[in-house]
Amino acid sequence: MSSRAAIYTRISRDPVGTGLGVARQEAECRDLAARIGAQVVRVYVDDDYSAFSGTRRPAFEQMLEDVKAGLVDVVIAWHPDRLYRRQRDLLPFIDTVQAAGVQVATVAAGNMDLSTASGRMVARVVGAAAEHESERKSERLQLKHAELARRGRWAGGATPYGFRYVGDGMLEIEPEQAAIIREAAERVLQGQTLHSICKNLSTRQIGTARGGVWRVSTLANTLTMPSVFGFRIWRGELFQGVWQPILDRETVERLTVIIRNPARKRTVPSGVALLIGGRLRCGRCGHPLVSAWAGPRPRVYVCKQPPDGRGCGSLSIVAEKVEATIKQQVLSVLDSPAREALILTTKLDQEAAKNLVYAEALLRELTGRYADGELTTMEWRTCRQVLTHDIETARAGLAKDRAFNALADLPTSSGELEAAWATWSLERRRQVVDAVIDHTTIRPSSKSTGGRFDPTRVTDGICWIHRDFGSVPHAG
Ligand SMILES: [Zn+2]
Repeated sequence: MSSRAAIYTRISRDPVGTGLGVARQEAECRDLAARIGAQVVRVYVDDDYSAFSGTRRPAFEQMLEDVKAGLVDVVIAWHPDRLYRRQRDLLPFIDTVQAAGVQVATVAAGNMDLSTASGRMVARVVGAAAEHESERKSERLQLKHAELARRGRWAGGATPYGFRYVGDGMLEIEPEQAAIIREAAERVLQGQTLHSICKNLSTRQIGTARGGVWRVSTLANTLTMPSVFGFRIWRGELFQGVWQPILDRETVERLTVIIRNPARKRTVPSGVALLIGGRLRCGRCGHPLVSAWAGPRPRVYVCKQPPDGRGCGSLSIVAEKVEATIKQQVLSVLDSPAREALILTTKLDQEAAKNLVYAEALLRELTGRYADGELTTMEWRTCRQVLTHDIETARAGLAKDRAFNALADLPTSSGELEAAWATWSLERRRQVVDAVIDHTTIRPSSKSTGGRFDPTRVTDGICWIHRDFGSVPHAG
């Protein structure tokens, strides 16, 4: 028996073309039903009520009753915002659909998996976005947007980085910004991390469109927006824009694959210091060492004397060797019972941790859906705003639990730790080191080693955060 589909259509009060809108929604939903092999058993239409105005939706309520009665296997709508526009519509809908084991499919946003926590969160956030936009977005406005999209016009809103808006739905390439996009794309394709590219841009004092500091997420979005390859997206559909592309579509697709792949190994460039901010101190004068890299010589941590620094200027050590030694020390401590002791003695803000994990997972998922064209720019922006706020709040709550944060989800065997380290970003490595070692005082070199690196110059001066770590037998 093929599954039984209920189609739900709704359109808000609109003096122009209301009936047509419903008919079009229904036709597209019927196409979708045919594609998924479902038989349409009933079409529910609420066409004079707006879910947002607070009036009742008799057909919607009837449909929920029929779902409860087991008359329906799949609910089909044109877009999730047809089904609910307010949080209080969504909750009973999710409850009913989940209890009955009914699928939900939409023409514009694909299947909605309400059986998973993250699927429900997505539904909730898309609902929040719809609620947020609802007052401003009349059906007529939407039609206007669709029309603009078909004609390849930019519909307004924030102008994407790399372009300037010149009126009448036209974008023009902003040469300096476009050059940054091309350069960043090239670097990503060469295997550089988004993180290192952001760092580089900030060193060169190159800001975002609003003059802010480049963040990994901003850069990722900038490089993968359809506008970059001359398209715009409307309701999950790509339309050829009337403006010049900055990159060709194939390049953007390659970038998207690289950037959105969570398994991507983030290699850490050797020119960047692992130990910064006073984590290393001079064994002669006690001043913090800084990372320095001059010409063909290997990068060093060095004590700088005035005018560059305030130290004695007579100590330096090869950076790569220090970092390798510190890494060994940290990993062997993390492979010992002392790690548990640290975690147990660290207070954790459970609520903040849960929220953080939740919000980050959801943001990743939504970003992926946006990249796939399942969310409109407006929806995604609204979602991102809500989630970024949640993430920042949760992070602030966890800042004091840095050690826990960095150590909580590490693998437990030394082989796995080593492998995990290789995949971590520089930032992650720093967090882990900082969670374990307060600072390290580097001993001056002695002539007796004959120029070879002496690891005890590092290991003897490690100041562990947790006293138990000092008694762990360390790998040399
Ligand atoms: Zn010094």
